Amino acid sequence: KRHEGREHRYALFNPDMHARALADMELERDLRHALKQQELMLYYQPIVRLADGAITGFEALVRWRHPQHGMVPPNRFIPLAEDTLLILDISRFVLREAGRQALAWSRCFERAPIVNVNLSGRQFISSEVATETSQLIAEVGCPPALINIEITESAILTNKALALAGMEGLHAQGFKLSMDDFGTGYSSLSYLHEFPFDSIKIDQSFVSRLTREPRTAAIVTAILRLAETLEKRVIAEGIETPDQLAALQRLGCAGGQGYLFSPPVEASAAEALYKQPSWILPSSAGSGNGTV
Ligand code: C2E
Ligand code: MG
Ligand code: MG
Ligand code: MG
Repeated sequence: KRHEGREHRYALFNPDMHARALADMELERDLRHALKQQELMLYYQPIVRLADGAITGFEALVRWRHPQHGMVPPNRFIPLAEDTLLILDISRFVLREAGRQALAWSRCFERAPIVNVNLSGRQFISSEVATETSQLIAEVGCPPALINIEITESAILTNKALALAGMEGLHAQGFKLSMDDFGTGYSSLSYLHEFPFDSIKIDQSFVSRLTREPRTAAIVTAILRLAETLEKRVIAEGIETPDQLAALQRLGCAGGQGYLFSPPVEASAAEALYKQPSWILPSSAGSGNGTV
């Protein structure tokens, strides 16, 4: 009888969900440990000026070297970290580390690269995000102007009023701001002029369809025109092929990021790229008035 009862209870669960829940619990425990054991680190992906190929900055992307599972991708642990609020500790680590690195680079290069940091929507639930962020950055001696905060539209959606207050606070402290994964949400257009964004990052789903779908090219063209009117810089994410690069250059997109240039790499490799990029860009100037 007891056995049957137990079976009945288990039947209420999808076995996959059950396995997933167990894996999540294990991951959460390991993540708490990871923060203490310094298993988290930052990789840096170059952000490139498409006109001449110069690196203008880097996006800092968190990496977790799990002692048993190897590299755990952020898409696996960030959502869990958001649910458990461990994201607050992770962000403190990321901001300190990115700030430390940005300061170091500003000291060894005449033109300092800007370091982009991703903040989660969870952070905007508190009205303290701007003061906490600038305090962390100040602790490592980094001027806010060297840091660009990226936030997604879905993060804004959670609580628009708090998000707006947080973003305005960050802007007032001197941070640069980007809207990340632009185009994937529902109200990007209205947020674009309401929030003090300096730049927008066109989601890689648009870039990957750009050269295959005329419709997507039309949308990207419209985004670029709008951004120009609102005086926002545009960075295209996930550029993987020379064709995509050529199309974006032709449309006048200012910046880009993607495996065509470099995947996210360790700080030392990022620094080497900054000194000497491994790419030479075909100039868009030779291709006529955007007709090729
Ligand atoms: P994201 O901010 O949109 O970051 C861009 C993601 O696209 C990165 O994945 C990057 O490695 C990947 N990527 C770059 N170029 C290409 C390309 O040419 N092709 C393809 N297929 N992918 C490309 P990653 O590092 O796995 O990060 C995934 C997401 O995790 C990020 O999306 C961001 O939302 C989140 N994340 C990463 N680091 C942090 C962090 O420190 N804090 C927070 N809150 N979220 C983070
Ligand atoms: Mg990002
Ligand atoms: Mg993105
Ligand atoms: Mg993304």
